[in-house]
Amino acid sequence: GKGAAMVTAVAYRLAAQHAERQRILDTLRLSREQLLEVKRRMSEEMKRGLSKQTHEQTSVKMLPTFVRSTPDGTECGEFLALDLGGSSFRVLLVRLRKEKTHKVEMHQKIYSIPQDTMQGTGEELFDHIACCISDFLEYMGMRGASLPLGFTFSFPCHQKKLDEGILLRWTKGFKATDCVGKDVVTLLKEAVRRKQEFDLSFVAVVNDTVGTMMTCGHADPRCEVGLIVGTGTNACYMEEMHNVEMMEGNEGRMCVNVEWGAFGDNGELDEFCTEFDRTVDESSNNPGKQRYEKMISGMYLGEIVRNVLVDFTEKGLLFRGKMSERLKSWGIFETKFLSQIESDRLAMRQVRSILQHLGLTVTTCDDSVLVKEVCAVVARRAAQLCGAGLAAVVDKIRQNRNLNQLSVTVGVDGTLYKTHPHFSSIMQETLQDLAPQCDVTFLKSEDGSGKGAALITAVACRVQREGQH
Ligand code: BGC
Ligand code: MG
Repeated sequence: GKGAAMVTAVAYRLAAQHAERQRILDTLRLSREQLLEVKRRMSEEMKRGLSKQTHEQTSVKMLPTFVRSTPDGTECGEFLALDLGGSSFRVLLVRLRKEKTHKVEMHQKIYSIPQDTMQGTGEELFDHIACCISDFLEYMGMRGASLPLGFTFSFPCHQKKLDEGILLRWTKGFKATDCVGKDVVTLLKEAVRRKQEFDLSFVAVVNDTVGTMMTCGHADPRCEVGLIVGTGTNACYMEEMHNVEMMEGNEGRMCVNVEWGAFGDNGELDEFCTEFDRTVDESSNNPGKQRYEKMISGMYLGEIVRNVLVDFTEKGLLFRGKMSERLKSWGIFETKFLSQIESDRLAMRQVRSILQHLGLTVTTCDDSVLVKEVCAVVARRAAQLCGAGLAAVVDKIRQNRNLNQLSVTVGVDGTLYKTHPHFSSIMQETLQDLAPQCDVTFLKSEDGSGKGAALITAVACRVQREGQH
C-alpha cells in the first residue's frame, strides 16, 4: 500500500545519499598504484633538485645544510637555542656536558608571536625575537651574556655556510615583509644590535628536520633521516657529497634538507588533488605553494575536513542540510580535534560533544559517525602520502650505497605525528609496502629543535676553535 511505498522511497533516498557521500570520499582515497606514482615522482624531483642543470626548475629544492656528521659526544658548553616556525616559539638554554652519559640540561620559555607580528614587517618580527631573548637571559639571571646560538628556523633557506640562511619563502602562517631573499642571521644580529643589551657570538641556522635527525643521532648512530609532521612537513637525510652538485667537493656526506613541502608546486600532484585541496590552497596565505604540505600537515588537515563537511551540508548529506556560521569559519578544526575525534577510546557520544564544542549541532548519530569517517579518510591519505615521500628518501639512501637491503633510523618530531592515534602506523604500513628493501626504525625525538640546534652549534664552535689552533 501507500505506507510501504513511502518506506521504500525513504530507503531509496538514504541509499542514494550514502552512495553520494562515498562517491565524494572516494576522491580522497588513493590506490596503491597512485601512491607508487607519488613515490616515483618524488624520487624524480629529488634527483632533479640535486642536479645543477635542473635545480632551478624543481619544486623540491634539496638544500645543503652544512651538517656533515652526527655528534660524537665530545661536544660541550653552553648554548642558546631559538625555535621559530613550529607550533610555538621558544628560547632555550642548553648545557652540554662532556660526559659518557651525554648529559643535556635544558631550560626553556615559550613566547607568543602575535598574529600582527607574524604578518607585519621583518624588522618588527626580529625585534620581537630579540626582546624575547633579552627577557629569557634576564629570567635565567644571565643578563648581558654573549653565547653562541643555534637558530632553529623552520623555513626553506639557501645556505652557503652554517651561519647564514637566505630565506627562500615563508611557509605556514608566516608572511612578515622584507625577509625573503635576506639572510636571517643578519636580520637577527641587526635586531640584537638595535637592542644594545647583549651579544651573539655565533649563530648557526638549523632546519627543524636537521635538529631532529641530530638529536636522534645522539642516541642511535643509524639515524640518518629527520622527519617533521607538525604544523608543516619536511624531511632531511644524509646524501653523498658527489651527488650534491650544488656543492664543491666529493668526499663524504652532507645532510640535505629536502623541503618536500613544496612537492606538487609544479603540478606533480594535480591528478591526486580534490576540489577540497584546491579550496584550501586558494584560501591560504600562499596559494599555489607547498601543495604536498597542504595535503599532509597539521595546519591544513582540519581545513580539508571542514571543507568536506561544508560540501556535505550544502548537498543535504549532513546536519540535515543546515549550514551554521561556525562551520563556515576558517580554522575551527584544529589538529587536536582531528586526533581526538579519531581516538579509539572515544564513544560516539564524545565525538558528538567535541562537535558541539565546535559549535556544530549534531542532530543524528549518523552525523557523528560521518564526521569521524571524514576525519579518518583525510588523515589516512595524509599518512599515506607522507609514507610515499619517505619511501623515496630511504630508497635513495639504499641505492646510493648499492645495497639490497638497508637498515636505517628516522628521527621524527611534530605534533600531528605524536598525537594522532593512527597517523604513524598508517605511514609505516605504506612505507613498508612501497620500500620493501628498507628496514626502517622510527625514533621520536625529545625536543629535536632545541637540543639538535645546540648540538650543531657545538660541533661548529669546536671545529672553529680547532681551526684557530
Ligand atoms: C618548512 C620546512 C620545515 C617544515 C616543518 C615547512 O613549512 O618549509 O622548512 O622543516 O615546515 O616545520
Ligand atoms: Mg618544532
